[in-house]
Amino acid sequence: MRVLVTGGAGFIGSHVCERLLADKHEVMCLDNFYTGRRDNIRHLLGNTDFEVIRHDVTQPILLEPDRIVHLACPASPVHYQWNPVKTVKTNVMGTINMLGLAKRTKARILHASTSEVYGDPQVHPQTEDYWGNVNPIGPRSCYDEGKRVAETLCFDYHRQNGVDIRVVRIFNTYGPRMLMNDGRVVSNFVVQALRGEDITVYGQGEQTRSFCYVDDLIEALVRMLDQDDEVGPINLGNPGEFTILQLAELVVELCGSTSRVVHRALPKDDPSRRRPDISKAIALLGWEPQIALREGLVKTITYFEDLLQQGDQDRVRMRTGEALVGASD
Ligand code: NAD
Ligand code: UDP
Repeated sequence: MRVLVTGGAGFIGSHVCERLLADKHEVMCLDNFYTGRRDNIRHLLGNTDFEVIRHDVTQPILLEPDRIVHLACPASPVHYQWNPVKTVKTNVMGTINMLGLAKRTKARILHASTSEVYGDPQVHPQTEDYWGNVNPIGPRSCYDEGKRVAETLCFDYHRQNGVDIRVVRIFNTYGPRMLMNDGRVVSNFVVQALRGEDITVYGQGEQTRSFCYVDDLIEALVRMLDQDDEVGPINLGNPGEFTILQLAELVVELCGSTSRVVHRALPKDDPSRRRPDISKAIALLGWEPQIALREGLVKTITYFEDLLQQGDQDRVRMRTGEALVGASD
């Protein structure tokens, strides 16, 4: 099949492209490179089944995919709050454009929604039938409400136009290819621990999150895309629940770091707890996460260690005047 992956140069998108190519699909990777990087997909560029399209999903585009995996949208609070109006446009106009494309081409479209549609949840763990507790006018609303409207659009295009949708609500996912300056908690803590810097825990660190390793998530996404029985929404994540302080301590231990924990102000509307109920995913997809937090963190730490080492080597080469091939990317 010819699969269009929007946000394909991002963290999750690059892993999706890699997996679809391994499964012998043709992949069109569409990205505006806001938080995506050529380095994430550089290893795929020689593959004749892979093409890159620099494009912004807020603008219409004419393509002929058999399937669409719609991921385009910054996911880190730091990045989505940088230009909140653009975040709303990406979620609303971008999703309308992709649903319109799906309608014209009759392509199945998988939309990446988020646990943020539950806001600061009053139901715990979160089940798909919970409608959420979202502030419509706060700093996170551009993302939370944007993603809620995107879900509404999916279901209206489905009911009104028969578009073949799949909607997944992704919970905190981490792993290699997160940006070093991503702002999300796992990449922040790992980079801080490896550099021996203070670990910045926001608030008391008693808020909880459930962390899913990226390989587990990709398996679930592919299974959801391939099944014919259910449109969703379906929670995808790892139900293991940790406080942010526990995460900080584990990262310091696994990095063998001397970093100490410092506390910073808790951002407004930061959800106090989050954990997916994945009964639906287990029943429908025969899927459960296989990679425990400790194991996934070790893989992630190795990735960032290599990246930091590479950065040091590049700095040495710059000092000695050696050209940096591809540095402008
Ligand atoms: P990411 O920021 O690494 O990837 C997003 C990609 O979308 C980037 O490559 C970015 O350049 C691209 N993009 C952003 N705006 C665009 C636009 N207007 N036009 C074209 N491309 C655009 O984030 P990620 O973690 O890989 O997240 C991917 C998707 O999964 C997002 O939709 C996000 O909301 C969703 N999601 C992620 C998580 C998580 O924990 N990683 C959790 C819930 C939902
Ligand atoms: N967080 C933190 N220190 C950081 C970055 C994040 O304590 O350097 C906290 C943040 O306040 C939140 C949790 O970690 O409670 C997860 O934050 P992230 O930005 O990764 O994702 P969120 O789930 O909030 O969208």
